[in-house]
Amino acid sequence: MEIKRGIPVSPGVAIGPAYVVEIEGIRIPRRFIDKEKSADEVARLHAAVQMAVADAHANRDAINEKVGKQYGAIFAAHAMLMEDPELMREIEQLISQKNHSAEYAVSKAMRRHAKTLQALNQPIFSARASDLFDIEKSILSHLVGEQSDPLQDMTEPIVLLAHDLTPSQTANLNPKMVYAFATEAGGKASHTAIMAGVLEIPAVVGLGRLLIDVSGGDEVIVDGNRGVVILNPDEETRERYLVLQRQFGSFAKRLDELKDLPAETRDGVRAMLFGNIEFPQESSHCNDRGADGVGLYRTEFLYLNKTEDPNESEQYEAYMSVLRAIGPNRPVVIRTMDLGADKLFHRTDMQLDEKNPCLGLRSVRLCLRNLPLFKTQLRAILRASPHGDVRIMFPMIGTVMELRQCKMILADVKEELEEERIDFNRKLPIGTMIEVPSAALMAEELAKEVNFFSIGTNDLIQYTLAADRTNEHVASLYSAGDPAVLRLIDQVIRAAGKQGIDVCVCGEMSGDPIYTILLLGLGLRQLSMTPQSIPEIKKIIRSITIEEAKQISQEAMRFETARDVNNYLRDQTRRVLPEAVVN
Ligand code: PEP
Ligand code: MG
Repeated sequence: MEIKRGIPVSPGVAIGPAYVVEIEGIRIPRRFIDKEKSADEVARLHAAVQMAVADAHANRDAINEKVGKQYGAIFAAHAMLMEDPELMREIEQLISQKNHSAEYAVSKAMRRHAKTLQALNQPIFSARASDLFDIEKSILSHLVGEQSDPLQDMTEPIVLLAHDLTPSQTANLNPKMVYAFATEAGGKASHTAIMAGVLEIPAVVGLGRLLIDVSGGDEVIVDGNRGVVILNPDEETRERYLVLQRQFGSFAKRLDELKDLPAETRDGVRAMLFGNIEFPQESSHCNDRGADGVGLYRTEFLYLNKTEDPNESEQYEAYMSVLRAIGPNRPVVIRTMDLGADKLFHRTDMQLDEKNPCLGLRSVRLCLRNLPLFKTQLRAILRASPHGDVRIMFPMIGTVMELRQCKMILADVKEELEEERIDFNRKLPIGTMIEVPSAALMAEELAKEVNFFSIGTNDLIQYTLAADRTNEHVASLYSAGDPAVLRLIDQVIRAAGKQGIDVCVCGEMSGDPIYTILLLGLGLRQLSMTPQSIPEIKKIIRSITIEEAKQISQEAMRFETARDVNNYLRDQTRRVLPEAVVN
């Protein structure tokens, strides 16, 4: 048995036979042609490109219909790239001047560009490179005359393992045949990861070396909740995951049972469970799971498939569509753009050559350096604010001064709107994320400045333990149960309590069942998570009393290592709710 850890990008558990996708893709039959055949070869190229463009348009239409225009735009962009005159000229020259076959010329040109993008070593460019591979494959399939993608012709359910999957491969996966997928490459912000979430196929990416350790047909477990992939599981592990899988299989049933019930402890203490979303369409996932609102709207995803900043009206429309779906009485926490580092970042005029982007000019730091960008978003949020229970939240705040600067800019924008006689909620609640250790340490002071806190444990863990959240090599250090992290969380909850402001946890920790009792016991009454996790967390809350939770959290805070904390919490969670999905 071998256990691999990666980045969970789409929840759910699956067990099945491995299907390993060929890394090389389509084999090129011949590389060179006779000189006098080059005109025919160019004609062949054009015919194949036209067919590939037609495929991209068909993909666009199908995806528009299936999941929304935002996703279909990926394929519209593919079609445009395929017809790019400069790219075509480059390929034609390889054919006419170097006597390359059309296939070889396409592959050479596309891979040259893709490799340049990959060498930039930034997630957003890697995603672009993956688009180029996708386009290459599509044109080649017409030149070589093969079926475009064997993945579409699956006859038996499988677990898909690949170095990487292109966006169109992912979008075309049939969730009935592909139980789950796992990839060596990829990050949270890749198109592939987003497509997996939208199609609700359990997925783990960024696993590092994987394919070399597995053969087609081997049994594989993919745990999309915790980012774990298990190759050739032993009997005990297999049994454990079969149980987990059954629980996920009965998800719809459990959902029906719990959807309209409150997240209330056995002794009547009510907690609020919110959903985290990246796109307006995901509001329906929140509604389907009985969320109390949206606790984190990651607006930087407005940049997906965009080469320019989203303008005010686009942003306003996106916020309005969330508000329309969620309704006027449930909160929608709109977080200002958290661009940079591992997040989507397309702005060519602001590309920075930073040695350490996670510690660099990202998130609000970037917004404060680019006031037009920041103000445009603040205007859009304010304009949407009278239409629902909108709340605004600033990410990556590290100092009191930074928070005050954000509030000052917000006040400026409010003044502008007043002058323009544009309506907005004058009492719009303002919050800050607590995801930098300095902010946690200064929580008492920060609490005087805002109406609410939201603890971003994904980054708080990474910065507290100096362990990159996307680096599989330090995954064992990266734990929400580390006593250092827990002490900071405790401190933040106390500071919020002292100032009488709300506090929520919106990192992945809040959707991980082993931490629910602890967080409740520490005093949290608000959690925001991937919508799919809500029913299970609600079930745990409904299975305990606050007194029990307090005792368990006190005990957990005594341990000195993450391992002891996690083992203890796992046991307690199982004791309270034996069928809980604990890992
Ligand atoms: C976090 O850091 O915990 C968080 C919720 O924000 P993100 O995952 O978007 O960085
Ligand atoms: Mg964060």
